[in-house]
Amino acid sequence: MVYDVVIVGAGFSAIASVCNLIELLPASFSVAVVGDDPGFGRGTAYRTELYLHRLNVPAGRMSLFADRPDAFVDWLAEHKRPVGAGDFASRQDYGLYVRDSLAGLLRRKPRCRVDFIKAKATGCLGRYNAALGFLFDNGNEIAGRNIVLCLGVGSAKLPIDLSGLPALGASHVVDNPWRLSWLGRVASEDSVCILGSGLTMIDQVLALHAHGFKGHIDVISRRGLAPLSHARAPKPPAELDVATLPTRLSELMGTLRRESRCADDWRSIMDSLRPQTQTLWQRLPLSERSRFLRHALPWWNIHRHRVAPDVFERFEEITRSGQIALHAGYLLNVEAGDRLTLCYRARGRRDVLSIQTDWIVNCTGMERAGMAHSPLLRAMQHQGLIEADPLGLGIIVDPRSRIPKTSENGVSIYAVGALTAGQFWEITAVPDLRVQARKVAEAIAKRRWAKSGQDDG
Ligand SMILES: Cc1cc2nc3c(=O)[nH]c(=O)nc-3n(C[C@H](O)[C@H](O)[C@H](O)COP(=O)(O)OP(=O)(O)OC[C@H]3O[C@@H](n4cnc5c(N)ncnc54)[C@H](O)[C@@H]3O)c2cc1C
Repeated sequence: MVYDVVIVGAGFSAIASVCNLIELLPASFSVAVVGDDPGFGRGTAYRTELYLHRLNVPAGRMSLFADRPDAFVDWLAEHKRPVGAGDFASRQDYGLYVRDSLAGLLRRKPRCRVDFIKAKATGCLGRYNAALGFLFDNGNEIAGRNIVLCLGVGSAKLPIDLSGLPALGASHVVDNPWRLSWLGRVASEDSVCILGSGLTMIDQVLALHAHGFKGHIDVISRRGLAPLSHARAPKPPAELDVATLPTRLSELMGTLRRESRCADDWRSIMDSLRPQTQTLWQRLPLSERSRFLRHALPWWNIHRHRVAPDVFERFEEITRSGQIALHAGYLLNVEAGDRLTLCYRARGRRDVLSIQTDWIVNCTGMERAGMAHSPLLRAMQHQGLIEADPLGLGIIVDPRSRIPKTSENGVSIYAVGALTAGQFWEITAVPDLRVQARKVAEAIAKRRWAKSGQDDG
């Protein structure tokens, strides 16, 4: 079957794209959403099994639609959740809200055809009849006249190869902590070593606690920096215009540091950058973007991707109790005996230190969107349909999120989400994804109107 639109991916970006297409396309259009994820629309972020896992963006900024900012807050009120616009709702609830929003739109447009296909797209069949075909892991295939790639980022691999560990040791390495079933295998007095100290680590520490875990937790990452907190009473964003900021990284960081020192709260500087980050990124030459990724990324992440204040306080409490030790260093190797031994070089030191533990948990977070995790992207690259971003930030798209030159044969390929980080950088959170999904849906709708020349809605 040839669909008007094929969306590959089943996370938030895919569902935001389909919701906008339902609103904008004529009534008789057809869309296929192809995803290998059991929870359509939830992705890793919103299919958590733990209610205590919170959003890290206030509810008032999490509506699916930028032009209806209260939609999520209204949903929360309708469902009797005591969460206001400035509060941090449960990620589980957010997944339900996304699902309900899609169902509501589908009810209102009964003539459109939206097929949800559970499969992994593994290959591309090239262009035929002004459409692009995709091959699935189950042997089936479909084609679309417009394609939207919403593949997210794969989860990060372990920082070192542990394939040589004996079976018993390997069974105590948790490669994908998002499958929370691993928690059931941990005894309450065991010890756990978490690799990575970002938001995923905090989620897992809270999950361990919710399971009554009493043992010791070591956390190791290259810089040993953990996310900072949102303010309980946020100050308004400062008035900083990115057009006036330097484009050399060292000068830019110097300016931001000075501004932060002078501000009542450094967060107001970060918050002023928030709606302008894409512009700031686009102003930086490639060499400075590359410098940013090498030198400033860990600092950017902890200041920019902050946690809800009570999540932060809970984490601080556990840290103060001595249950968690945070180490900065480079993991060198892991040996398995009765327990697992991790050897690492402490940051800024020459000597090698070691940690004994029962469990290793990979919380190095999401991989930067690259080609490595996706057979589909590698196949499309091989066929000359897409090109890798030079800094490894996904694929090359133009400022309209379209893959250049793809409409030459009548097929347009767009991407939504982290795959477009090379062009936009700040494109992983809902406030940005919903705007991008809308623009892509508008571009597809415009093409469709131009072709049909009539309203069949
Ligand atoms: C733990 C966590 C918490 C977060 N909290 C927030 C928050 O509070 N607020 C916020 O704004 N953002 C948050 N984010 C950011 C979050 O990534 C985005 O909000 C959003 O969920 C990204 O959605 P996505 O669809 O782009 O990617 P994903 O959610 O990664 O979805 C991509 C989907 O595509 C599927 N897929 C990939 N390749 C194929 C293929 N070849 N064939 C078929 N299917 C494929 C994947 O299986 C996956 O289901 C959080 C992220 C994480 C990981």
